[in-house]
Amino acid sequence: MTTPLSFEALKSQASSLSFRNKAFINGDYVDALSGKTFDCISPRDGSVLTKIAECDLADVDRAVVAARAVFEKGSWSEASPGTRKAVMMKFADLMEQHASELALLESLDMGKPITLAVRDDIPLSYKCIRWYAEAIDKIYDEISPSDPHSIGMITREPLGVVAAVVPWNFPLMMAVWKLGPALAMGNSIILKPAEQSSLTALRVAELAVEAGLPEGVLNVVPGFGPTAGKALGLHDDVDCIAFTGSGEVGKLFLQYSGQSNMKRVWLECGGKSPNIVLADCPDLDAAAEAAASGIFYNQGEVCTAGSRLIVEEAIKDELIEKVIAAGKAMQPGDPLDPASEMGAIVDESQMNRVLGYIEKGQSEGARLSMGGKQVRTDSGGYYVEPTVFDGVNNDMTIAQEEIFGPVLSVISVADWKEAVKTANDTPYGLAAAVWTSDINKAHLAARKLRAGLVWINCWDGGSMTMPFGGYKQSGTGRDRSLHALDKYCEIKSTWIALGDA
Ligand code: NAD
Repeated sequence: MTTPLSFEALKSQASSLSFRNKAFINGDYVDALSGKTFDCISPRDGSVLTKIAECDLADVDRAVVAARAVFEKGSWSEASPGTRKAVMMKFADLMEQHASELALLESLDMGKPITLAVRDDIPLSYKCIRWYAEAIDKIYDEISPSDPHSIGMITREPLGVVAAVVPWNFPLMMAVWKLGPALAMGNSIILKPAEQSSLTALRVAELAVEAGLPEGVLNVVPGFGPTAGKALGLHDDVDCIAFTGSGEVGKLFLQYSGQSNMKRVWLECGGKSPNIVLADCPDLDAAAEAAASGIFYNQGEVCTAGSRLIVEEAIKDELIEKVIAAGKAMQPGDPLDPASEMGAIVDESQMNRVLGYIEKGQSEGARLSMGGKQVRTDSGGYYVEPTVFDGVNNDMTIAQEEIFGPVLSVISVADWKEAVKTANDTPYGLAAAVWTSDINKAHLAARKLRAGLVWINCWDGGSMTMPFGGYKQSGTGRDRSLHALDKYCEIKSTWIALGDA
């Protein structure tokens, strides 16, 4: 992938982009049947980039019919693993070839710094597709241990029609974490991007068909949650919902399933992730840098954001000073400026939500040590300063609720046992980190932390080889790794009686 050009060159490229703004159903870009559209607003400056087809129940029906028809036909669902691999590899290659365009779309659409889109979102997305492509012809089914007169076969079959409903913070990456394993297993897919960030999903759909994916296997229905999203959740011919988003909406999907066909529901929801720094931390500078980027990266709009810094009292002041120094270097800037380390908050309502939490933190008695304000108001976009609260009590609203913005709560504790207890004291259980030089404390804390991802002496470690997901109300199931394949298949037990012949 080529490195982005100068700010001026990027702005000029952005102004000449063309946007795919229709739904993608059965291999074609189509208007919503109602003819309705909604504004696609760039949080960078509040401008309308394009108008996007607003899908609802009728369009979802059309997409489900197409997805089911091709599934029954078998051109993908019954294709050999080698064939699926080749198509997915080509799909990944095409995404890589269009990486600069995809990065620009992502940055304009949801406000993330172009540098992050170029370095992280887009490469991690095509590499995810490639990883599942490479895996799929190396996965074996099983034969059970049985007596000599029988054979027990345990085989995987694709589920059928999978609906992926995804959020706006990593639009393409969250989508491919579903598409990769679901396509590899042979399913048909209907992808509903978040209404704030439809552009990359709509663009890659045609690349998938260009790569050889049969028409109807991947459909994209842009639109709003309570219409298009709900229609997928309640649809009797959708076999699985793969959801990433808020816990509130995750719970709705569980209800939709119960009210319809008991479809499988996999949830990847929010977090309030604790970053524990103990007094014997091996490198306080590294811990401070990681604490700052752990909460300010992507404007804090990260499910695993390290939003609670839990620190042993003895080193608290020194650590906060270092975190503030690191945070000050991450002021928000124009997402298209390669120098910006933080960009814009995704939309005005999310910005106001973040500012509301900052107000709440102050009114509940936390001490504002840095930031706290909206900035760059002249731009017309939505920007919030990196913000640090000291003196936070774990019962406060800012320590319990997911803010999904650049707001750090610092909570001090007496020792590592109190740190772990405090860390576990939220409804969430997505990620957690411990910084310590004591290997025993590291292992014991890792065991006791009720979180799907635990990092020792780092923040956000891992790769496609490691499962990603949470305990408690952070969700069910896991994205990434071979474990994700199991979400998108039925497991069949076939018992063959051989007799005595
Ligand atoms: P959201 O729950 O508001 O929306 C997610 C998706 O659900 C969107 O596509 C939206 O249109 C749809 N939706 C909204 N209301 C719906 C309804 N009534 N019925 C059906 N669908 C509906 O979440 P968001 O604001 O887009 O994203 C932020 C959330 O996502 C945060 O809570 C964050 O932690 C979570 N997230 C989790 C992970 C993870 O892997 N655990 C990763 C990224 C984001």
